[in-house]
Amino acid sequence: MLKKNLVYTVLCSAVAIAAVLFSGCGEKTQKKTLRMVTEATFPPYEFRSGKKIVGIDPEIVGEIARRNGYELIIEDMSFNSVIAAVQSGKADVAASGITVTEERKKMVNFSTSYVTAAQVIMVRVDGKVTCAEDLKKYRVAVQHGTTGDNYVTRNIKAPERYSDATTCAVALIAGKADAVVLDNAPAETFARKSPDKIKVLPTPLVAEHYAFAISKKRPELLEMFNRTIDDMDRDGTLQKILDYYLYNNHEVALPSAVNEKKTLWNSFKDAWHTNFVEHSRYEYLLFGFSVTIVVALGAVVLGVVLGFLVAVVRTASEQTGKFKILDWLCRIYLTVIRGTPVVVQLLIIYFVICNSMAVNKVLVAIVAFGFNSGAYVAEIIRSGIMSIDRGQFEAGRSLGLSYSKTMIHIILPQAFKNVLPALGNEFIVLLKETSVSGYIALEDLTKGGDIIRSQTYNAFMPLIAVALIYLVVVMLFSKVLTLLERRLKKNE
Ligand code: GLN
Repeated sequence: MLKKNLVYTVLCSAVAIAAVLFSGCGEKTQKKTLRMVTEATFPPYEFRSGKKIVGIDPEIVGEIARRNGYELIIEDMSFNSVIAAVQSGKADVAASGITVTEERKKMVNFSTSYVTAAQVIMVRVDGKVTCAEDLKKYRVAVQHGTTGDNYVTRNIKAPERYSDATTCAVALIAGKADAVVLDNAPAETFARKSPDKIKVLPTPLVAEHYAFAISKKRPELLEMFNRTIDDMDRDGTLQKILDYYLYNNHEVALPSAVNEKKTLWNSFKDAWHTNFVEHSRYEYLLFGFSVTIVVALGAVVLGVVLGFLVAVVRTASEQTGKFKILDWLCRIYLTVIRGTPVVVQLLIIYFVICNSMAVNKVLVAIVAFGFNSGAYVAEIIRSGIMSIDRGQFEAGRSLGLSYSKTMIHIILPQAFKNVLPALGNEFIVLLKETSVSGYIALEDLTKGGDIIRSQTYNAFMPLIAVALIYLVVVMLFSKVLTLLERRLKKNE
């Protein structure tokens, strides 16, 4: 009965995983596509309006794609990763208000510049910072990995680094920082939306140029971009797009709504509405949840299979003296996996091992978390095998059973029962670990919450919702585990 249920669960998981993987493959149609990466929290260059990513960059690149017969696909990822994504062939172009710098030129080619920008100082209206000199004395926030970050780090002092420009603006309003050094257009957009809270100091720190980043291996694409940018410059399209977004107030949800005075219940209702109902934002959580579950289930299956194999090889080698080379390989695997953080492993698999491969991110995550979990599962199962009295083993052998038969029929079933709580714990850890999937721009549950947060500037609602969902899943899983343990005890 139990066996049947287990087989059923494994089959269902396999079907669910296959469904998600193949749905990913289905996206690859025969049409000519242009894959653009950006970080959509940088208005007016890129931001979300409802479900869509809009702004100057999507508009210009969209027009370039259209004029050359491409279909544009936009992917939202952290600014830190956009250049690496282009370099490794995961995307064709990075368009994210990217400043041309000498360091970046070593890694990618830049198109003709399409706009001149500047780094400016954004401060609170009632704040103490009034000039660049003051930055030395007060807390300065920047967006991690940007030219603003470089400027402050090199010329002023170590800043506080946030993941995106919008979070910097929120930190400034909330009094967590006294100034933000960032690009002029986003700063002006924030100030225009919250004039009572934020202003931009008049003297810019340094001027810069934005351009699109394209892999050095794609000179033909660079040529196409430059040719079309020239055309768009000549026929006025470029200026029209810039004017439209730079000087109009757009539907950019901004921090202005954060601190209004309302009763607690009304603010809760409003926050609920903005974070989940408006623009059907709850769908980010639903979709993210399905991705998290698929990744976790896939990784659990892979981790158990791997862990099981490794544990058996290691004990067999210890007990019989055979499989020396395999044992040695398993030890290296355990040392490397247990000695490095899972997020680094995930990034290595995605950006280094799968370099220039169009891979399905869900699959990458399953492999990364599965390999990681396998190492821990291996040690758990091995300790389970060790915990079985040596007499059991000898009994099996004296009954005339071979080493493998003794292992399969006598030792492993008992070992499994002993380690079930530890295995369950490992699965719980794994489920929560998948929350770093956002690093490879996979929209899992945590990332879903992040997207909502970056749109609504409300940290409480999306974070608490995400935490609750994880909690409920873990509680349900623990319940199932307790039932399973009880069943196994009954069958003893
Ligand atoms: N222009 C800045 C840079 O290239 C910031 C860009 C951004 O945050 N999207 O570093």
